[in-house]
Amino acid sequence: MKDHKLQVIPLGGLGEFGMNMTAIRYGDDILIVDCGMMFPEPELLGVDLVMPDLTYLKENEAHIRAVVLTHGHEDHIGAVPYFLSEIDVPVYGTDFTLALVERRLEEYDLDQEPRLIHVKAKQIVDIGPFKVEFIHVTHSIVSAVALAITTPMGVIIHTGDFKVDPTPTDNELFDLHTLADYGKRGVLLLLSDSTNADRPGYTESERAVRPRMEEIFNRSEKRIVVSCFSSSIHRIQLVLDLAQQYGRRVAVIGRSMVSVTEIAHSLGLLDIPDGILLRPQDAMDLPPEKVAILISGTQGEPMSALSRVAVDNHKHISVDAGDTVVLSARIIPGNEKGIFRMIDHMSRRGADVLYGSMNPPLHVSGHGSIEEMKLVLNLVRPRYFMPVHGEFRQLSKHARLAEHLRFAGLEDSFVMESGDVLEIDHHGARKAGKVPVGRVCIDSGSVDDVVQEMVIRDRRHLSEDGIVLPIIAINRHTGRMENPPEIVSRGFAVAEDGSKFVDEARLVVAKTIENSNQEEKTDWGVIKEKIRADLKRHIVKQTSRRPLIMPVILEV
Ligand SMILES: [Zn+2]
Ligand SMILES: [Zn+2]
Repeated sequence: MKDHKLQVIPLGGLGEFGMNMTAIRYGDDILIVDCGMMFPEPELLGVDLVMPDLTYLKENEAHIRAVVLTHGHEDHIGAVPYFLSEIDVPVYGTDFTLALVERRLEEYDLDQEPRLIHVKAKQIVDIGPFKVEFIHVTHSIVSAVALAITTPMGVIIHTGDFKVDPTPTDNELFDLHTLADYGKRGVLLLLSDSTNADRPGYTESERAVRPRMEEIFNRSEKRIVVSCFSSSIHRIQLVLDLAQQYGRRVAVIGRSMVSVTEIAHSLGLLDIPDGILLRPQDAMDLPPEKVAILISGTQGEPMSALSRVAVDNHKHISVDAGDTVVLSARIIPGNEKGIFRMIDHMSRRGADVLYGSMNPPLHVSGHGSIEEMKLVLNLVRPRYFMPVHGEFRQLSKHARLAEHLRFAGLEDSFVMESGDVLEIDHHGARKAGKVPVGRVCIDSGSVDDVVQEMVIRDRRHLSEDGIVLPIIAINRHTGRMENPPEIVSRGFAVAEDGSKFVDEARLVVAKTIENSNQEEKTDWGVIKEKIRADLKRHIVKQTSRRPLIMPVILEV
């Protein structure tokens, strides 16, 4: 027993944005912290989600004791359904986190009933040789926790995502005392959130958003449309409170926005004033100055509710001259094009679109800046330090920060990348080799309101099902299709009648374009996504195959 080593293995989220997952191994027992996904980069056309490669975990399946979740953001829980379809172990998390996991699991058909174990902050659970305490932290999502994992070799603190908000809107403070208690007793290793390691000072409190929002409610004479992440319960609460104060009723639009507000309300985390909600279909019937709309789609995702509103193709809502549209979220790098295109559409119809950084802010980060990172380092005073969550430059900045603090006891910090193994034994800590890591792309196909079965698309599927490229020449100005669509395929052989397949596919594409309005047709992001969805539905129905479909638009 005393020869056992402790290994900490980040399987995702280090040197990349999203897909957070860490394995902690003592002897033959493995505990997994978080199980997140990553949104695909635009280059990964035709792919909906990206998950961490589970090869290492599948090889060690018999040793895995549990997954422990820090909070409900997609980059921490998004891969849980996929993980559970491969490896059946209990999953620990707070009520809200697990409610979001359950929502994701509804899209999956698991062979076995998932074992979800609800925990609360301050609770301690035994999992194999590990004792895990859940410590409340402040973040942009409610019910977020850090973990204190006591192992036979010493204590590991994993912060999850955090900021140190001294005035959280729900008055649930960061439990710094418990963190400090562990620090006093001695911490072997700290893993801490590095997302904002290049931001000096302190991140503003969530409360800082109120003045700007209040000003918007105070001066707007027409409809107010607010878009934020559906998991930003604090932000949603603020909009509901202001709507009540200023005599507006609120329509909640978008599948994720509706379901997450329902979950938060049912758990007592969101206070919905009586009679304030408005059915989406009634939103356009009230005088505009009596309406506020909460809508999902801050990142310009082509099929999101806000994108549809922007191209005037939403069944219930439209944006008119004089309306105010508020994007209360960060622009995630890589999404700029889609977001700005969406803003252009709405500006063109005369809406005042507010976005980006301004003072007072429309949005504040959920991650702590440098001073908050220092505070946590100073309280925990670990012997070893491993920065997590961030690109390499942020991880190395965070490591340097720890070294500069020179608190007594820090022996070493380790800037690691996903797949690196940190090994700790009685002689000390060191990087010791690598395990296989990588990305697996998932094609969910659920771009409509209808949820479809998730399909795992890995390289094997790609080689079996091939690629289909619909090529369409569209006139940028008129939105007219200049030639009949071409269909090119590779590795996608249709046994009986190839030309019949091509003819039918052409028809599907032509119909999609015909049924789109002018603005959709001139928005490549939207039209590509529509073509992909329609063609996929057709091909699956006709052939039961799932080729990768990558529409190509030639601008003429
Ligand atoms: Zn988070
Ligand atoms: Zn995160």
